[in-house]
Amino acid sequence: TVLDLVDFCQVLVEELQLSAGDSYNLNFVCRGCYEAYLDENLLQHILTNLLSNAIKYSPQGGNIQFDLFCNGETATFRIQDCGIGIPEADKAKLFTSFYRCSNTGKLPGTGLGLVIVKDAVELHGGTITVDSTVGVGTTFTVKLPINLINKSDRPAR
Ligand code: ATP
Ligand code: MG
Repeated sequence: TVLDLVDFCQVLVEELQLSAGDSYNLNFVCRGCYEAYLDENLLQHILTNLLSNAIKYSPQGGNIQFDLFCNGETATFRIQDCGIGIPEADKAKLFTSFYRCSNTGKLPGTGLGLVIVKDAVELHGGTITVDSTVGVGTTFTVKLPINLINKSDRPAR
């Protein structure tokens, strides 16, 4: 499907902000963004899982920063939180089924979200990386190859 990446991300952020309520602040910024051919359902899965994790694993009042950068070939989505972080020893198993980190405590979950995210990213021919420090926060970065739409081919809106 042809997606307007900015519109798509903005709508998603508004929906998640509504369900998260006033105790969280989601901030979305984008740079150099286009319409592109991407699978809407896969992208929805990827971003919803990562953003809802960012909310769930952050204290109330937490800021979540969501950035989208595009160049001609790649869309880079970065989701950054100031939450509990991921312990070094847990990082290797993060993307395996039913795995939950040792500091997850009573926060609910099944440990499947990131497995689905990784599958969806790889189906897109993309990559996912994580950078995290316990007590400081976590950043997930997803890079997806995009096929830009030639401006003259864009449907009128
Ligand atoms: P669900 O299947 O409902 O998403 P889940 O959130 O436990 O359950 P994943 O989304 O796969 O499962 O995440 C796996 C584990 O990774 C989590 O249990 C949590 O310990 C850790 N984790 C994921 N995202 C974050 C984050 N943003 N900050 C800290 N820990 C995280
Ligand atoms: Mg999850």
